Amino acid sequence: MAAAFFDMPPVLIVGAGPTGLAAALSLARARIPVRLIDKATQPDPHSRAIGIQARTLELLEQHRLIEPFLERGHRARAANLYSNDQRLARLDFDPLQTRYPYLLFLDQSVTERLLTEHLATLGVEIERGVTLAMFSQGSAGINATLERSNGHTETLHPSFMIAADGAQSTIRERLGLSFAGKSAEQTYLLADLQADMDWPDDEFHIFASGDGLAGLFPLGKGRYRLIADHAGRSADAHEPGYSYTQGSVPQHPDRNPMSGVSTFGQTPPHARDTAAQSGRAATAPSDRPATAPRDRCAAARAPTLDECRQIVAKRVHHPMTLTDLQWSGYLHLHRRMVEQLRVNRIFLAGDAAHVHSPAGAQGMNAGIQEALNLGWKLACVLRHGAPQRLLDTYHLERHPIEREVLRQSSFLTHVAEADHGPLKLLRERVMPVLASLGPLRDAARLRVSELAIQYRRSPLTLERVLDGGPRAGERAPDALVHVIDGPLGRAPGTGCIFDLHDPAYFSLFILVPPDAADDVLHDVPHGAPQGAPQGAASPGVLHKPARVATADLDRFTAEVGALLPDAVRIWRVTDASGEGGPSLAESYGRTRPSFYFVRPDGYVCVRGRAASDLNGLLRHCEAWLVKGQQEESPPLPPLPLG
Ligand SMILES: Cc1cc2nc3c(=O)[nH]c(=O)nc-3n(C[C@H](O)[C@H](O)[C@H](O)COP(=O)(O)OP(=O)(O)OC[C@H]3O[C@@H](n4cnc5c(N)ncnc54)[C@H](O)[C@@H]3O)c2cc1C
Repeated sequence: MAAAFFDMPPVLIVGAGPTGLAAALSLARARIPVRLIDKATQPDPHSRAIGIQARTLELLEQHRLIEPFLERGHRARAANLYSNDQRLARLDFDPLQTRYPYLLFLDQSVTERLLTEHLATLGVEIERGVTLAMFSQGSAGINATLERSNGHTETLHPSFMIAADGAQSTIRERLGLSFAGKSAEQTYLLADLQADMDWPDDEFHIFASGDGLAGLFPLGKGRYRLIADHAGRSADAHEPGYSYTQGSVPQHPDRNPMSGVSTFGQTPPHARDTAAQSGRAATAPSDRPATAPRDRCAAARAPTLDECRQIVAKRVHHPMTLTDLQWSGYLHLHRRMVEQLRVNRIFLAGDAAHVHSPAGAQGMNAGIQEALNLGWKLACVLRHGAPQRLLDTYHLERHPIEREVLRQSSFLTHVAEADHGPLKLLRERVMPVLASLGPLRDAARLRVSELAIQYRRSPLTLERVLDGGPRAGERAPDALVHVIDGPLGRAPGTGCIFDLHDPAYFSLFILVPPDAADDVLHDVPHGAPQGAPQGAASPGVLHKPARVATADLDRFTAEVGALLPDAVRIWRVTDASGEGGPSLAESYGRTRPSFYFVRPDGYVCVRGRAASDLNGLLRHCEAWLVKGQQEESPPLPPLPLG
């Protein structure tokens, strides 16, 4: 971290689950000091969330940590939906325009470990056994009391605080935020086990029927996650988030470097089955306080292998043999979310802000993506003095997305479980027809993979219409490019947009046509003939109306660079030939020259024509990203360091 920023009060992140880890990643990469605390003295060893969506994988790639995830995860390239014994629909992820046309299955414990290891390379260590005991905030800042497991306390004055403290968030509770929704609408049985069957192991299967929902998700090497709703179990309606009962605890998660996934194979299978069948609750992680809801549940009985077999026999109409139950639990599901994600200097993210069905594999992904959305905005305010209203866009952008996820997952679950009436009709008659329609299948693919997430309606988004390419607010897709010029004169030849984009910075990509790449090396006289046929005039003369002179592009680059010093990296790029990704034309359309101003979290903030939209871009940056006269409050509170 740059020495200048060590004097800055840190951002306090409470909770080192996937959300808190991702927030720390984003801030540390932008060289903002963080304190990342977790009351648990050890990481949670359970598999829990297993699905990592394509969009999350793209973001991990941009943070330069995708490789270990790909090495350890297991890829599922298609989803199958059945009603009773009929396959209603199949969704193939191959057509997705991404380097990751699949759902990557990986135990959450491994995801957390990989994020933790990467954070260590950025100089961030999780402070374990440290609980946020008390906090208050005023106009000047936050006072937080941290309590260590040895009883020592510390007072800290962070600039901002991120509540990533999970479904039972005490920060949410102490802020008095309502967590509106329904408690314990459903109980899900979760089990990781071996399934021997003749289906390929790179697809997952969801079975809907009047008996209930069941899903089988491949984890690699014949290991599957079974998820099934479980009407028989009474739910613990008192807990606002998840509550769960868990069975076998993995002894040595992910110790086998050869395995693609966690292996829990240290206990003989027979012993594990017996333990699960006898209902012996697993050793609960020792760090849980005695009053924690998880402990209250841990005494209850966990699902047995026999129960899993019965469910599969009833709902999965395909022969298979289940053995070797490695972990199981009941998840009492609540559907809830807060009404606001920001309370002055405190931001809620992940399960602290919303909880919903695990079936769509959206929960953990949402937390990670929220954290990355928030991280760069805090960094902009702290490092560059951007107006604090930039921080309001966190709620404005993410809250509607979460509300929609909650609404859809609730609706789809009801459709999947219906045993009579219009919802059953919808599932059995209407859905197969809809699923056969290409455009609807495309839309479903994009939605499931979270590549469809966009912030087009955000006030932070400025669209100047171009022909084709992603609109402002949408994700900036990858493309193979030839770099004509880059930061500090770097022109690495051929590269990918994702490699050039550094999530610690904005990227300004100026796209020029291939035949202009030579021209931009020359000075171009003004007043060149407009619309003259290409190649008809002497070198250095513009032939196309849209073409911009080098001098104009230089001015463009210089003015944006001067407005956002140390915050933007500017690349002039053109089409590249060769393998290695979709072409610039495929991903960004054909209008040239144009610019795409990309946010650190990989979404297009502004796009337009280099010839005419420079002023619009500059004014937009002044309004949102630059310290100005209109600043409502100072970016940093004048607080002593704790
Ligand atoms: C049994 C189980 C199975 C699941 N299965 C799935 C699934 O199949 N698919 C899916 O998408 N999702 C699943 N989930 C949900 C998924 O695990 C969560 O969405 C994800 O963990 C949310 O991450 P988070 O970082 O927001 O919160 P968490 O992972 O809950 O992390 C919160 C952290 O905050 C710490 N903390 C809390 N209070 C304090 C405090 N006062 N001071 C300091 N630290 C504190 C906690 O110790 C914890 O480590 C499952 C959850 C459970 C419990």
